[in-house]
Amino acid sequence: MGSWRNLREILRGGGITARHFFVNMTFHTLKLFGVRASKRGAVTIQYPDERKELSPRHRSLHRLVPRENGQPRCVACMLCVTVCPSECISVEAAEVDDPEVQKTPARFVIDLDRCCFCGFCVEACPVDAIRMDTGEIRLAAPSRDGLITRLDGR
Ligand code: SF4
Ligand code: SF4
Repeated sequence: MGSWRNLREILRGGGITARHFFVNMTFHTLKLFGVRASKRGAVTIQYPDERKELSPRHRSLHRLVPRENGQPRCVACMLCVTVCPSECISVEAAEVDDPEVQKTPARFVIDLDRCCFCGFCVEACPVDAIRMDTGEIRLAAPSRDGLITRLDGR
């Protein structure tokens, strides 16, 4: 009895899959010939030719926000370094003459191989100097070292 029920469910699942296949293929074929071009078949996005719009809240790759003079807004306070749960941010501070700023990052590095994209660094920054709003989500490198990213632009 149980095996008949299993067989019936397998056939039912196969029928659903086949129905989706033929419906999607019909829409794709019609679209190919310019008929009902607005109607999409499968919801699959043809990445990388097509890209889905990211939510404004999406946490993509990091960037350092510049001041009006082009220098990074970061004051090398190390708060992001302290709060990062993956311990993947490294900042080397350098002094600057401007008494309003005092310090700047001589080196600002994130090891994206270890980053968990929690966004804590963005939340912790007191001067809104680091953001994850680049919209860039591609993250691949031939080696782990290739994921070590300098944000200071040097
Ligand atoms: S997103 Fe999270 S894990 Fe990645 S660098 Fe920022 S604090 Fe660290
Ligand atoms: S990015 Fe913000 S939190 Fe991190 S060192 Fe610079 S000023 Fe401090």
